[in-house]
Amino acid sequence: MRPLDLTEKDPSKKITIHLDGKPYEAYEGEKFPVAMLANGVYWLTTSTEGRHRGAFTFGPLPVTVNGVKNVNGRKLKLRDGMRIERQRYDEFQEQVEIDEGKPVLRYVVDVAVIGAGPAGLGVVEEIGGKLTVALIEEKGWLGGDMWLKGVDQEGFGNPREAIERLTDFPENVRVFLGTTALGVFDKGEYFLVPAVRGDQLIEFMAKRVVLATGAVDSIMLFENNDYPGVFRRADALEVINVWGVAPGRKVAVTGAFPEEIIPELERWGIEYVVVPNVRRVEGEDRVERVIDENGNVYEVDALIMADGRIPDINPITQAGGKLYFKRGYYRPVLDGQHRIRDGIYVAGSAVSIKPHYANYIEGKLVGAYILREFEYEREPCIYEEKLKDHEPVARPLPRFPLDAFNGEDVQICGCGVTLGKVDEVVKSGITDLQIIKRLTHLAMGFCQGRFCLFNGALLVSQRSGMGMDKLDIPVARPPIKNVKMKVVAGR
Ligand code: ATP
Repeated sequence: MRPLDLTEKDPSKKITIHLDGKPYEAYEGEKFPVAMLANGVYWLTTSTEGRHRGAFTFGPLPVTVNGVKNVNGRKLKLRDGMRIERQRYDEFQEQVEIDEGKPVLRYVVDVAVIGAGPAGLGVVEEIGGKLTVALIEEKGWLGGDMWLKGVDQEGFGNPREAIERLTDFPENVRVFLGTTALGVFDKGEYFLVPAVRGDQLIEFMAKRVVLATGAVDSIMLFENNDYPGVFRRADALEVINVWGVAPGRKVAVTGAFPEEIIPELERWGIEYVVVPNVRRVEGEDRVERVIDENGNVYEVDALIMADGRIPDINPITQAGGKLYFKRGYYRPVLDGQHRIRDGIYVAGSAVSIKPHYANYIEGKLVGAYILREFEYEREPCIYEEKLKDHEPVARPLPRFPLDAFNGEDVQICGCGVTLGKVDEVVKSGITDLQIIKRLTHLAMGFCQGRFCLFNGALLVSQRSGMGMDKLDIPVARPPIKNVKMKVVAGR
């Protein structure tokens, strides 16, 4: 077994790959950063400013594969003999090339459900068999965040078994895995949802759309937060439970919600220490120690950020939804039927942060509202009542020790935007996030603000004393996920 393997892998799939000329053991179909992690290699790319980075804090991960530059290593599935070279982050342009010769695929359905986590699956369970459905999911799996879990989940029990039960779809439900929806547009009586799968453009025409697009992990601010060995919670879960690899021999867990990762570490016997207030991580070219705000030093080889999730607001604002701030995050303003406007519904952690089972019930609620619109007899109030048992989670607002940080060592955004750079603009008196965006390029890179805009807002709020609810959050522009413009232009 490789140094960080938790499970035995299929020996018939064993292969050799090379990173910068050095051979490593890997397994056919394994993801590149996972194989490197299993071998104890954390440093995989270099930022614009020459900082070493890993794959698990900020994506994407540019690499050259067999001489072809600009491959996103985060998604790279390994094959025997691959020769991979590290690239600098700033050389990278993620491109989705659309094969111009291929005709656009078009599907006309009653309902397009974007996102196949517990909420999306709840919607489909309710309306499948009655209405025609396109279930659009960018990941390669069904079940969303719950699929990453290994421990039993309230209301569901074993997560994998629950997902299996929910994904026995009737015939009129068509599933599109590995397919990213780029936005929602009005098209007469229909909505147009353009999406990409590989190099194929797909256009969905739907009478109703459900945004079941979920939430994103909060990125925490501390010095060297982009260091190889710093993990977002979801990435740590994926390496452990999907790939059977440990994030490190001994890991530190930080953030307001350590309980979201600790049972999973305990399940595998991974040694951990909880460090509530991290000031800085240090090490040669990966995490070797974590230092907290009181100067205590913890010798570890990885750090997992478990500071809760926040709804992904980009699909909502792009589709015309308004936001308000409650319980520590921005969330969509909904009408009495869970809609941001006529025909566009939101369900799950895109609405508010709550357990998987509550998100599934909310999906069923939205499904019941939709069925009523198609003149089926339904009582959504049954689900409304059930949902009342699940008060959304309140996320405490982090307070950054702004003046104690070396702002150049704290990355607010993976695209070379430091806390120091944004703070300088804010301290000059500019509090309009739209202007801050233009001046610093915050929220203008690969993540389109999904991971960095919230911290930008927090910084403005903390420096200016303005409440988070008073800030004007910029609206996301299509495409809501990064693709080359020619994909959507001129069609
Ligand atoms: P919970 O938060 O309890 O897990 P949920 O269903 O509300 O429930 P997720 O599990 O995060 O939330 O599932 C949301 C799913 O939406 C994810 O699997 C994610 O990949 C998918 N998704 C998000 N944005 C898009 C998009 N633009 N196109 C396709 N799929 C998307």
